[in-house]
Amino acid sequence: MNYNIALLRGDGIGPEIVDSAVRVLHAIGQKYGHSFICTPYLIGGAAIDAVGEPLPKDTVDGCLNSDSVLLGAVGGPKWDTLPGSLRPEKALLGIRAALGLFTNLRPARLYPALKDACPLRESVASSGFDIMIVRELTGGIYFGDRGYREGKYGEEAYDTECYSRFEIERIARVAFETAKKRGNKVTSIDKANVLETSRLWRRTVHEIAEEYEGVECVDMLVDNAAMQLVKNPAQFDVIVTSNMFGDILSDEASQITGSIGMLPSASRNETSRGLYEPIHGSAPDIAGKGIANPIATILSAAMMLRHSFSLAAEADAIENAVDSALNAGLRTADIAEKGASWLSTTEMTDEIIKRL
Ligand code: NAD
Repeated sequence: MNYNIALLRGDGIGPEIVDSAVRVLHAIGQKYGHSFICTPYLIGGAAIDAVGEPLPKDTVDGCLNSDSVLLGAVGGPKWDTLPGSLRPEKALLGIRAALGLFTNLRPARLYPALKDACPLRESVASSGFDIMIVRELTGGIYFGDRGYREGKYGEEAYDTECYSRFEIERIARVAFETAKKRGNKVTSIDKANVLETSRLWRRTVHEIAEEYEGVECVDMLVDNAAMQLVKNPAQFDVIVTSNMFGDILSDEASQITGSIGMLPSASRNETSRGLYEPIHGSAPDIAGKGIANPIATILSAAMMLRHSFSLAAEADAIENAVDSALNAGLRTADIAEKGASWLSTTEMTDEIIKRL
């Protein structure tokens, strides 16, 4: 099969880590008989420098005409003083909106080989955890009515949380479908003791749960969820939650893995086309040094194979190769113990390709 992938390398370490993932894609394509045709498009600071805007139309068109999109990261000090509408990060919201990406999937998994990097107590870390956070990405308070007005105490600002039944049903189905392929448990996180949107959320999630016999559905209030993530993360399989709660909890979950350079993500819509990217930023402090950890981007490419192209065996092969490299004690600088030796971006990529 031929697959057309739009590559958005971006800024900082973006080009280095995307190039690593592309090498892995070509290697897996050779092994399994697929062609991954990768076409680069400008985004972020690189696009500002080249054409004066962070998300050129050509880039949006290229993504819309591709089978899927692989993104590195955008941003850096060079563009930090530009006005908001011209900042590289504006391109992220723009491309998510252009592709209608309403689901964000963020795995947070503690690799046994990296247990020591976990900031949690040994007794908690030793049980390990493997969580998939399903965050609603295009609704809720980040997109609701907002503004300033005169209130009881003078000037006040407001933001509005609004969710439709349709939006909740759509994201709940993604969560239950995901759980069916994993541990058969969905924890739905809300604030139903206070918020009306959360009461509709909870009611709707339970209606959808009835379609999924065999998948357990548990409710949890967001304040409790924030505590449970650090107290007993092993209890979670799939978490489904709103845009803002998901934003906060997915960052908390990524931190307890102790390795930001390892975590991939996928943003999806109703079609098979998705946008896959590491959760970290452009790491300007290490850009160009050849020392960035490419694993988050390589695992993002694996997610693309699994979720957009239904190539599960190929995705497994990449994930197993990463596990195998880590189990063999291979590390990049960010995950190496103090004083231990480590591999460059290219060397780690070579080791992963060797193990495919
Ligand atoms: P960051 O994630 O880029 O870096 C935080 C720290 O983690 C740095 O010390 C960095 O060196 C390290 N790090 C990150 N990824 C790494 C990797 N793969 N290997 C080794 N070390 C890694 O976050 P930041 O410093 O807050 O932001 C830097 C820039 O990235 C900013 O301009 C920010 O706006 C942008 N940003 C972009 C995205 C995105 O494109 N999706 C996300 C977050 C931040």
